[in-house]
Amino acid sequence: CGIVGYVGGQPALDVVLAGLKRLEYRGYDSAGVAVLADGGLAAAKKAGKLANLEKELADRPLPTGSTGIGHTRWATHGGPTDANAHPHLDNAGRVSVVHNGIIENFAALRAELADRGHTLASETDTEVVAHLLAESYSSCGDLAEAMRQVCRRLEGAFTLVAVHADAPELVVGARRNSPLVVGVGEDEAFLASDVAAFIAHTREAIELGQDQVVELRRDGVTVTDFDGAPAQVREYHVDWDA
Ligand code: GLU
Repeated sequence: CGIVGYVGGQPALDVVLAGLKRLEYRGYDSAGVAVLADGGLAAAKKAGKLANLEKELADRPLPTGSTGIGHTRWATHGGPTDANAHPHLDNAGRVSVVHNGIIENFAALRAELADRGHTLASETDTEVVAHLLAESYSSCGDLAEAMRQVCRRLEGAFTLVAVHADAPELVVGARRNSPLVVGVGEDEAFLASDVAAFIAHTREAIELGQDQVVELRRDGVTVTDFDGAPAQVREYHVDWDA
């Protein structure tokens, strides 16, 4: 339902949680976050309100890192449980993904992954993406390219945002029939399903087009289509008050 991604110089968890709060008005049933820190990936997720997630984070703090993603979920596939909350991880716990929308062909992809020895930990349509990204990344070593390869296999509507423990200071996003906006700050960048999530930090925005993949780094963004060709994007200034 709501998505936030961040890379920059601030503690990512603070930025991501504040962004998720700005998206709360849309309604949701679960929430979760993942941060890259100390060469690894750490995640927390909880059914219920953001307050439940914040309590979980107070009880079991995540390491501090400056690259992170977050999600508020409105369940479509699998009930509103902790296990079904996003982010979803691959079996090695190196890649983490959040998703808005529905992956229509998830059942076939789940069966394929199970045949290749993957263990799926949730009932969601989303989790297949984490496993597919991990496989693609291990063969190509490039998270944006892995995202493009995976997106070409997906049917349905999706905004996807992912991080990989082997690619610090990088957040990758993709969209088809579901919104995703970039916020460009000074030595930091944001990704969100709605500009409300980042306008406290920057008002310079880039609206992604249909079937595009974005690589988000501290010093800027790169956007391509699902085949890797450089893509046209619309840059604009958010001038409404929030
Ligand atoms: N289809 C996904 C799920 O049920 C994402 C739902 C959403 O857009 O929040 O987990």
